[in-house]
Amino acid sequence: MKIVCISDTHNLHRATAVPDGDILIHAGDITVAGDAREVADFNTWLGTLPHKHKVVVAGNHDFCFENSPQKTKALLTNAHYLQDSGVEIEGLFIWGSPVSPHYHDWAFNRKRGSEIRRHWKLIPPHTDLLITHCPPFGILDTSDRGSHEGCRDLLDVLQQRVRPRLHVFGHIHEAHGYTTIGTTQYVNASIVGPKGWTRRFWLLNQLTQLGIRIFRLFQWLKNLFWKTTPAQRHSSTLSQFQWEVAHAAIVIETASLSTDPNFRAPSKSLL
Ligand SMILES: [Zn+2]
Repeated sequence: MKIVCISDTHNLHRATAVPDGDILIHAGDITVAGDAREVADFNTWLGTLPHKHKVVVAGNHDFCFENSPQKTKALLTNAHYLQDSGVEIEGLFIWGSPVSPHYHDWAFNRKRGSEIRRHWKLIPPHTDLLITHCPPFGILDTSDRGSHEGCRDLLDVLQQRVRPRLHVFGHIHEAHGYTTIGTTQYVNASIVGPKGWTRRFWLLNQLTQLGIRIFRLFQWLKNLFWKTTPAQRHSSTLSQFQWEVAHAAIVIETASLSTDPNFRAPSKSLL
């Protein structure tokens, strides 16, 4: 069986080449601004893909899933939507969660420690395929500043209690890739990356970054007088100018997923 993994398409789903397969996984950040219209367009596109099963979780940009869950879920008619919930497909138990460690006030942000652990505690031990928006700490989570941005509490769960055969996530775009530790395959399936021109023209890139910071600062100041939603404050029409499809989908053959019963969790020394 072929599992096709994508994540962080940020409205560039139509520009993403998606290979054929049995199960398509999207690990969150479907949208840029977290608007229901973006989800509706994503759903229309999903409907054109041939995969028998499609499984989607939300990410920190996808505000509408957190703000109006019922209405937004109803828009996603072409996929199984998982939000701290599971589904069994072709004999694989799949669990999905949209949460990520707190960073300002994005969607599904939870404070590190007991607040985020409450979500990880829900992951059943018999999970074969885990989908989270954020990576575990130390695994495909290095930002372009060189820091590990993953969740330590999620790593603890993976080391102590849940040993999925495949773990798919995104969130840290620049850490796209895959690796195997113990008998778990880890996939950071992020699709977008910075546009070519932002890499070539350093000064122009810095000016754009500065522009985005000023825009966000303006939104925060505005919030002192008029209530703005987090979605408006993070409004990233500006960020959209910076991104393009930078990575390909990652395809995993289930035959290559380990079924070794003597699984050993990744040890800290490996990270
Ligand atoms: Zn993203």
